[in-house]
Amino acid sequence: MLIETDNEKGQPELLPAALFGLCPNCGQKTLFAEYTKFSDSCRACGLDYTKFNVGDGPAAFLTLIVGGAILALALIVELNFYPPMWVHALLWFPLTIVAVVGSLRVSKAALLILEHRNQAHEGSIDDEAPK
Ligand SMILES: [Zn+2]
Repeated sequence: MLIETDNEKGQPELLPAALFGLCPNCGQKTLFAEYTKFSDSCRACGLDYTKFNVGDGPAAFLTLIVGGAILALALIVELNFYPPMWVHALLWFPLTIVAVVGSLRVSKAALLILEHRNQAHEGSIDDEAPK
Protein backbone atom coordinates (compact mmCIF):
# COMPACT_ATOMS: atom_id res chain seq x y z
CA MET A 1 0.00 0.00 0.00
CA LEU A 2 1.35 3.37 -1.02
CA ILE A 3 0.99 6.05 1.62
CA GLU A 4 1.25 9.56 0.24
CA THR A 5 1.98 12.34 2.68
CA ASP A 6 1.06 15.99 2.16
CA ASN A 7 4.69 16.67 1.27
CA GLU A 8 4.52 14.29 -1.73
CA LYS A 9 1.31 15.46 -3.42
CA GLY A 10 1.81 16.57 -7.02
CA GLN A 11 5.49 15.65 -6.97
CA PRO A 12 7.22 13.32 -9.43
CA GLU A 13 8.13 9.74 -8.54
CA LEU A 14 11.63 9.30 -7.15
CA LEU A 15 13.16 7.21 -9.98
CA PRO A 16 12.07 9.33 -12.97
CA ALA A 17 12.83 12.51 -11.06
CA ALA A 18 16.34 11.28 -10.21
CA LEU A 19 17.00 9.95 -13.73
CA PHE A 20 15.87 13.09 -15.55
CA GLY A 21 16.82 15.77 -13.00
CA LEU A 22 13.28 16.89 -12.22
CA CYS A 23 12.49 19.45 -9.55
CA PRO A 24 11.24 17.59 -6.44
CA ASN A 25 8.56 20.23 -5.93
CA CYS A 26 7.04 20.89 -9.37
CA GLY A 27 8.49 18.16 -11.63
CA GLN A 28 10.09 20.50 -14.18
CA LYS A 29 13.51 19.58 -15.57
CA THR A 30 15.40 22.28 -13.65
CA LEU A 31 17.45 20.40 -11.05
CA PHE A 32 20.85 20.55 -12.76
CA ALA A 33 22.73 23.58 -14.10
CA GLU A 34 25.62 21.43 -15.36
CA TYR A 35 26.06 17.70 -15.64
CA THR A 36 26.59 17.05 -11.91
CA LYS A 37 26.10 20.57 -10.50
CA PHE A 38 22.73 21.59 -9.08
CA SER A 39 21.04 24.80 -10.15
CA ASP A 40 20.71 27.43 -7.44
CA SER A 41 16.93 27.31 -7.62
CA CYS A 42 14.07 25.95 -9.72
CA ARG A 43 13.31 28.26 -12.65
CA ALA A 44 9.66 27.16 -12.61
CA CYS A 45 8.60 27.19 -8.94
CA GLY A 46 11.52 28.96 -7.24
CA LEU A 47 12.45 26.12 -4.86
CA ASP A 48 15.87 26.97 -3.40
CA TYR A 49 18.23 24.05 -4.07
CA THR A 50 21.09 25.64 -2.13
CA LYS A 51 19.44 24.78 1.19
CA PHE A 52 19.90 21.06 0.49
CA ASN A 53 23.23 19.41 1.24
CA VAL A 54 23.76 15.96 -0.21
CA GLY A 55 27.45 15.96 0.75
CA ASP A 56 30.06 13.59 -0.63
CA GLY A 57 28.34 10.35 0.38
CA PRO A 58 27.29 9.32 -3.12
CA ALA A 59 30.76 9.89 -4.58
CA ALA A 60 32.50 7.63 -2.07
CA PHE A 61 30.02 4.78 -2.46
CA LEU A 62 29.87 5.06 -6.23
CA THR A 63 33.64 5.04 -6.56
CA LEU A 64 33.78 1.77 -4.63
CA ILE A 65 30.82 0.17 -6.40
CA VAL A 66 31.76 1.26 -9.92
CA GLY A 67 35.43 0.45 -9.29
CA GLY A 68 34.53 -3.08 -8.17
CA ALA A 69 32.23 -3.63 -11.14
CA ILE A 70 34.81 -2.34 -13.66
CA LEU A 71 37.53 -4.49 -12.10
CA ALA A 72 35.30 -7.56 -12.33
CA LEU A 73 34.52 -6.82 -15.98
CA ALA A 74 38.20 -6.25 -16.77
CA LEU A 75 39.12 -9.58 -15.19
CA ILE A 76 36.39 -11.41 -17.10
CA VAL A 77 37.54 -9.89 -20.40
CA GLU A 78 41.21 -10.60 -19.64
CA LEU A 79 40.65 -14.22 -18.62
CA ASN A 80 38.36 -15.02 -21.54
CA PHE A 81 39.88 -13.09 -24.46
CA TYR A 82 43.49 -12.16 -23.47
CA PRO A 83 43.30 -8.82 -25.31
CA PRO A 84 46.33 -6.50 -25.60
CA MET A 85 46.68 -3.84 -22.92
CA TRP A 86 45.55 -1.00 -25.21
CA VAL A 87 42.14 -2.70 -25.51
CA HIS A 88 41.78 -2.56 -21.73
CA ALA A 89 42.70 1.13 -21.71
CA LEU A 90 40.28 1.84 -24.53
CA LEU A 91 37.44 -0.01 -22.79
CA TRP A 92 37.75 0.76 -19.10
CA PHE A 93 38.82 4.41 -18.89
CA PRO A 94 35.81 5.79 -20.80
CA LEU A 95 33.41 3.27 -19.25
CA THR A 96 34.60 4.19 -15.74
CA ILE A 97 34.15 7.91 -16.37
CA VAL A 98 30.69 7.47 -17.89
CA ALA A 99 29.57 5.11 -15.12
CA VAL A 100 30.82 7.32 -12.27
CA VAL A 101 29.49 10.60 -13.66
CA GLY A 102 26.17 9.09 -14.75
CA SER A 103 25.51 7.34 -11.47
CA LEU A 104 26.72 10.36 -9.48
CA ARG A 105 24.15 12.57 -11.19
CA VAL A 106 21.31 10.14 -10.49
CA SER A 107 22.32 9.48 -6.88
CA LYS A 108 22.82 13.19 -6.05
CA ALA A 109 19.38 13.93 -7.50
CA ALA A 110 17.82 11.05 -5.54
CA LEU A 111 19.36 12.28 -2.27
CA LEU A 112 18.20 15.86 -2.83
CA ILE A 113 14.67 14.68 -3.69
CA LEU A 114 14.53 12.47 -0.58
CA GLU A 115 15.89 15.32 1.54
CA HIS A 116 13.11 17.55 0.20
CA ARG A 117 10.37 14.95 0.71
CA ASN A 118 11.43 14.04 4.22
CA GLN A 119 12.16 17.66 5.15
CA ALA A 120 15.54 16.52 6.39
CA HIS A 121 17.93 19.10 7.78
CA GLU A 122 20.88 19.35 10.10
CA GLY A 123 20.17 18.84 13.76
CA SER A 124 20.24 21.82 16.06
CA ILE A 125 19.97 22.47 19.76
CA ASP A 126 16.71 24.12 20.72
CA ASP A 127 17.51 26.57 23.52
CA GLU A 128 13.82 27.35 23.95
CA ALA A 129 12.95 23.75 24.91
CA PRO A 130 11.34 23.26 28.35
CA LYS A 131 13.62 21.74 30.99
ZN1 LIG B 1 10.27 23.46 -9.28
